[in-house]
Amino acid sequence: MVDAIPFPRRGLMLVLSSPSGAGKSTLSRAVLAADENIEMSVSATTRPQRPGEVEGRDYFFKTPEQFDAMVAGDAFLEWAHVFGHRYGTPAAPVDAMLARGHDVLFDIDWQGTQQLRQKQVLADLVSIFILPPSMAELERRLRARGTDSDDVIAGRMARAEAEISHWAEYDYVLINRDVDACLAHIRTILAAERLKRVRQPGLVDFVRGLDTKTG
Ligand code: 5GP
Repeated sequence: MVDAIPFPRRGLMLVLSSPSGAGKSTLSRAVLAADENIEMSVSATTRPQRPGEVEGRDYFFKTPEQFDAMVAGDAFLEWAHVFGHRYGTPAAPVDAMLARGHDVLFDIDWQGTQQLRQKQVLADLVSIFILPPSMAELERRLRARGTDSDDVIAGRMARAEAEISHWAEYDYVLINRDVDACLAHIRTILAAERLKRVRQPGLVDFVRGLDTKTG
């Protein structure tokens, strides 16, 4: 196995976007479970908590007033309206994770990705868009979750088309026909991005320390 040079490095920001139902949450969980050097950015949202969701693990659930206060206090790296609610990425935890040399995984939509792209040093951002194999399969997966009403599902299908229209703004695009294959691709992307020369500042000293004199 080829490892990145084990010197401190600034972490990278790995964005996963997709229409809901394309398998992004499953993939995010699998990436986190398989790799101890990447942590999840937990978003704040004004949408109601779903059964099974845990405060601080899935989201920080906020009232509109609390969310307003975070916006006013410049606490978000990005935030956006999605499905009639607001979602945002708290900045402080992300900065702390990156400074520790950890990579950060973001499950955010195209609007958030655009804002990150404008704000951040481009070299830190790696974006992946996940496509469903078909719209019929997307709807089947949304219904199988059993958490949303017909109205909400119809709304999500309409939003899915809008989300998919932004696929070409991403660095990588994967079709999620099979979760394991898709996960393997994400891990390959992560491994390659970590090995980029610009992400290995320790290389300069490492090469200087090599005894390259001959004879
Ligand atoms: P859900 O309500 O199904 O958890 O998420 C709905 C959508 O909001 C998903 O597409 C998800 O990627 C997006 N989302 C979640 N957190 C954030 C965030 O912090 N910022 C932005 N821009 N989108 C988010």
